[in-house]
Amino acid sequence: MIPFSPPRIDDKICNEVVATLKSGWITTGPRTKLFEKKITEYCGNKNTLCLNSATAGLEIMLRWFGVREGDEVIIPAYTYSATANVVIHVGAKPVFVDINANDFNISVAEIEKAITSKTKVIMPVDFGGLPCDYSEINELAIKYKNKFVASDNANQKQLGRILILSDSAHSFGANYKGKKAGALTDVSVFSFHAVKNLTTAEGGAVTLNLPSPFDNEAIYKQLCVSTLHGQDKDALAKTQKGNWRYDIVEAGYKCNMTDLTAAIGLVELERYDNDTLIKRKHIVDTYINLLKTDTRLELPVMETKDKTSCYHLFPLRIKNVNETQRDEIIKHVFDADVSVNVHFLPLPGMSFYKNLGYKVEDYKVTCNNSSREISLPVFYDITDEQIKTVVNAVIESVNKVIK
Ligand SMILES: *Cc1c(COP(=O)(O)O)cnc(C)c1O
Repeated sequence: MIPFSPPRIDDKICNEVVATLKSGWITTGPRTKLFEKKITEYCGNKNTLCLNSATAGLEIMLRWFGVREGDEVIIPAYTYSATANVVIHVGAKPVFVDINANDFNISVAEIEKAITSKTKVIMPVDFGGLPCDYSEINELAIKYKNKFVASDNANQKQLGRILILSDSAHSFGANYKGKKAGALTDVSVFSFHAVKNLTTAEGGAVTLNLPSPFDNEAIYKQLCVSTLHGQDKDALAKTQKGNWRYDIVEAGYKCNMTDLTAAIGLVELERYDNDTLIKRKHIVDTYINLLKTDTRLELPVMETKDKTSCYHLFPLRIKNVNETQRDEIIKHVFDADVSVNVHFLPLPGMSFYKNLGYKVEDYKVTCNNSSREISLPVFYDITDEQIKTVVNAVIESVNKVIK
């Protein structure tokens, strides 16, 4: 069976994890701090906070911006549940909008239609690793400055406009107009979950890039406290000689990254550009070359004039099929011992959101793209031979279903 997206766990990763275990410091400490510093250098943003997931990062930033009941957060209907769930966690309303037909990313025109005086945050998702239209999205925040009503939250007052909080779970290493994901909006959040391009098993990073007069370093320090019980000193600081006394300054959360997982991330980051991304591009280019002559297939956008994907997914679409036919194709592909996936089922149609009253039919492009999508395996250790097996399995399965 060809797997879908196993992590790359080699001796280098194992050795670094063992070295961390033997170092005597396994929770948040020197490796996490070094990983944060290296992510900031890599992305070109201002400060970076590593956490135990992207979900925690998105939620903590909504809370930092004082998002609460009565507020609206604009998100694409085409995303993973985490993007909307965090909005529910803080008591606000997710406002789903439709996506572009060509690239699966949130539609700028649909965002504009959805902006109201209650809109506090726009959370675009860089689907599959391709950045959204950030010049236009950032411009909307300025254009609708006068519509923005700040609450008594100091950060809302200071920003004085909608916050652009990018769900960059897929886009670590992607480029847009000469800048890297992480430095394209006010704040971005990466996921280092096991299936993502760069993994720490579980993990995430909040890349702060707020405009002046925000002090991103001070916000970073404050967020370290908010994500570790509201304790004014972390465990490492408390071990310093005579430094045992601490205070609790708020009822904080608990979602810090551990050095054990940061160790994996450090190895992954070190070889990301000159190894991981080169291999992922090779996989994607090979799929494109082998599939491009089949006119029944619609190939994903990996590059435009302004954007370069980081090749997180290969979201293939089959032309002129309904969902039942697509599901049949997937069944045949699995029968050929190839694992594929669907990214994503439309979120407004999932039970929880449906029961809140969202109507999946309102998101036509989302439904259409989702019903025809099959994500092909992309992972470091896949061989050219396996790529050919995947391609043959897909083409033969399509032959069986489309007569
Ligand atoms: C994976 C993913 C997340 C959540 O990431 P975690 O690190 O698992 O919290 C959020 N948004 C999208 C689009 C994702 O694919």
